[in-house]
Amino acid sequence: MYLIPSNEMLNKARSQGYAVPAFNVHNLETVQIVAETAAEMSSPVIMAGTPGTFSYAGIDYLVSICKSAAKLHNLPFALHLDHHEVVPDIETKIKAGVRSVMIDGSHLPFSENIALVSKVTTLCHRYNISVEAELGRLGGQEDDLVVDAENSFFTDPDVAAEFIAKTGVDSLAVAIGSAHGLYHGEPKLDFQRLAQIQRRVDIPLVLHGASGIPEAMVKRAIELGICKVNVATELKIAFADAVKKYFAQFPEANDPRQYMTPGKSAMKQIIAEKIRICGSAGKL
Ligand SMILES: [Zn+2]
Repeated sequence: MYLIPSNEMLNKARSQGYAVPAFNVHNLETVQIVAETAAEMSSPVIMAGTPGTFSYAGIDYLVSICKSAAKLHNLPFALHLDHHEVVPDIETKIKAGVRSVMIDGSHLPFSENIALVSKVTTLCHRYNISVEAELGRLGGQEDDLVVDAENSFFTDPDVAAEFIAKTGVDSLAVAIGSAHGLYHGEPKLDFQRLAQIQRRVDIPLVLHGASGIPEAMVKRAIELGICKVNVATELKIAFADAVKKYFAQFPEANDPRQYMTPGKSAMKQIIAEKIRICGSAGKL
């Protein structure tokens, strides 16, 4: 099979009331375990890579590994550009085979965010590539993207409708209280705001920073229009903790085929749990 645009998956999820989980991948092992778990559970999934991930793994390597996973499991996957900000960089990755893009102009003034997103949607729609944008600004840290509390702000429902009408974007990441990285204390989501956004817009909504958000809150968010749930930090922690535990037990270990395996198994449990919470199992 092949890499597909994510809006095919997201529009189906929206019409049927579930969400597609988007997992951040980094290398062969993380792609393998996301693909394997998704195939076993017949779940649509999106594999996401930040600019830092593509720099680390190499664009062609990452695209090739994801294509191989799709072929091996005979499933369509979306490989998605997470938090990309630079148009020529996006063009390069489209040429390499990526068909799902997030253009993050959330740091820009409203009119500049509109201009940037419009430019990317015009480019991408020519090739049937789906585009996600962000309005409002999430706090926290994801790779090189760091936003402190002072500079984060929530999505305004009226402004969201205007933004979508002016940009033609396919899906919208909303800021309703979630944050990248780890939460200090119980996360709070503004469901009233999400309900207002859902009433004003008619495209799939995206929840970033879902690591550490309790199951009931994620499910409520899905009921209110969230169709894509991004998970990165929880996977990293599970993988790293399992590898650290392995080395604590076997300090002399040096074979990646052995010490990577418990990391993959730990990651698989989180992936399976998120697929279950999103309600996407059996939806392929
Ligand atoms: Zn994000």
